[in-house]
Amino acid sequence: MSETFSVIARDGAARAGVLRTAHGEVPTPAFMPVGTKGTVKSVDPDELRALGAGIVLGNAYHLHFRPGEELIAELGGLHAFMGWDGPILTDSGGFQVFSLRDTLLEVDDDGVTFRSVYDGAPERFTPELAARVQERLGSDVAMCLDICLPAGADRSELEEAVRRTTLWAQQQRDLPRAPGQLRFAITQGGLDGELRRRSSEELVALGFDGYAIGGLSVGEHREPMFDATTEAAAFLPEEKPRYFMGIGDPEGVLEVISRGVDMFDCVLPTRTARTGSALTREGRLNLRNARFARDQRPLEEGCSCPACTRFSRAYVRHLVNQQEILGLRLLSLHNLRFLLDLVAAARRAIERGEFLSWKEEALEGAKGAM
Ligand SMILES: [Zn+2]
Repeated sequence: MSETFSVIARDGAARAGVLRTAHGEVPTPAFMPVGTKGTVKSVDPDELRALGAGIVLGNAYHLHFRPGEELIAELGGLHAFMGWDGPILTDSGGFQVFSLRDTLLEVDDDGVTFRSVYDGAPERFTPELAARVQERLGSDVAMCLDICLPAGADRSELEEAVRRTTLWAQQQRDLPRAPGQLRFAITQGGLDGELRRRSSEELVALGFDGYAIGGLSVGEHREPMFDATTEAAAFLPEEKPRYFMGIGDPEGVLEVISRGVDMFDCVLPTRTARTGSALTREGRLNLRNARFARDQRPLEEGCSCPACTRFSRAYVRHLVNQQEILGLRLLSLHNLRFLLDLVAAARRAIERGEFLSWKEEALEGAKGAM
């Protein structure tokens, strides 16, 4: 079998590559639309494919509780269940458990106890369970259960999170996997360079198919976050894919690519759509604004998405204001296309060796789109 990941072009720290999974190849850098509950909200898999998505993300926490991994396995696994035959990455549920702070009951060396967001019942996630859920879902990339702390956590908390994240990764590394399933570990350490180094070195020594940079984009300021990304990426092996968890604004995406990140995910395009806003090269357009009432232009000139090829801003504004389902669907399709196109253009710029100048130009207009 050929290698799981190859870098085909470099430009500074930025890389263009290919991730090979059991359900096909993914060109990187890759933006992964988020299908939390087994669907990218309101978008069907054929549409996702047509928009240029190469891989989607599913969420182990939510799918474990509703409808349950055993039911999904019985129905042929997550690919068959959601009608998407391309690559799927599943997160471990760690982020949900630790970001819903008020549902957290207890963390120990064997796992974490919390109240489920569905019915408030006490539940427990362990490294074994996180691996088992993802094995049953049959995703192409499974993530290790980790401890993700919010911005502002003190050093002793971060140190403990790093220690347990390594301990848990060790327990998960050799557990059963779905056929061809890759397993990525997640580095922690917040903005602390020394702890990030420790976390990275410990996980790299264990040996995984790829590594995620976790515990960033959790509420800290942008500049220290980007600096920490530069550092965190440098601690990871050149020949393995790097995944930045939870970034999806145009500037953030290009900044992490320029720091050597290969994959990222975010709900931003679809969440922004649900607030009635479109991402464009000139910034974010709030379609509720009265200035679009008679605007016959598409959301973005030159965009080939289903919204822009047929409908005017005035019509989308009308749909949004009337809370018509089509309005949020059209904005979701457009926003996903915008981000996927941006990342595809970044890849071409890396291949041409012009990434930095291209990025400056792209950000010039997109400043307001953050
Ligand atoms: Zn469009």
